[in-house]
Amino acid sequence: MSSTLRWFVGVPKTNSASLFARSFSLYHACQYDKGRYAKWRLKHPEAYRRKLDYGIAYRNTLREENPELYDQQTAARYRAYYKKMRQDPDAWRKRIDQTIPHIERWRQDPDNRARIHAARDRFREARMEDERYKFYVRLKNWCYKYSWVREQLPWKSYQPVLYDNKVEHHCDGCNWTRLGGKKLWWKKIETSPAADSCSWLCFHCYVPKTNWAEALPQGYEDLGTTTIKEIIKRRDSLGHGG
Ligand SMILES: [Zn+2]
Repeated sequence: MSSTLRWFVGVPKTNSASLFARSFSLYHACQYDKGRYAKWRLKHPEAYRRKLDYGIAYRNTLREENPELYDQQTAARYRAYYKKMRQDPDAWRKRIDQTIPHIERWRQDPDNRARIHAARDRFREARMEDERYKFYVRLKNWCYKYSWVREQLPWKSYQPVLYDNKVEHHCDGCNWTRLGGKKLWWKKIETSPAADSCSWLCFHCYVPKTNWAEALPQGYEDLGTTTIKEIIKRRDSLGHGG
């Protein structure tokens, strides 16, 4: 709980307003002694509630006034949080199982859905010049929409597998199990069924950092910046069914 709370009230360094300065000192105050902080929380529930509300108000204000900074800080906090949680897989498992139902409920709210979409749009806009990212989105869309893309094209080392629901696999690239799961995964193509090593990659690890078009099937590598129409043409000319 304390790490969640720190995440929640972990507001950034700023000297522009006393509001921010005070939040920042609270952030440090609750970092150094977890046991003492947990006791304080139990002993002073009202003060604890005020502290939480204070953090929420700060985050809401920041989101309204400076969405870019809000996204940066959120991403940084997530990175730090995941880094720490990776060191304790059991705690992470427990945390995810507790959190998923809350997140699903939170997502049902139309206001929250709008926030998710706005954040996604900002994320995309910031990457409009990133060719790998654009390729990543295209390939993902094709894999989601067309079963023939997943099943009939000559994939080289890994093949896309789409599930109806999110499935947890250990990604050999991240060396980490994505708890909560993903619907789309890349499964290693084995030379024989008996040799199945159950090796998986997440989408991010599958697409190379450079030469990303190498992620396309054999004979399609030059089509990294094209549309599905070009893929269909190539598929038909190479006789890969469909
Ligand atoms: Zn991965």
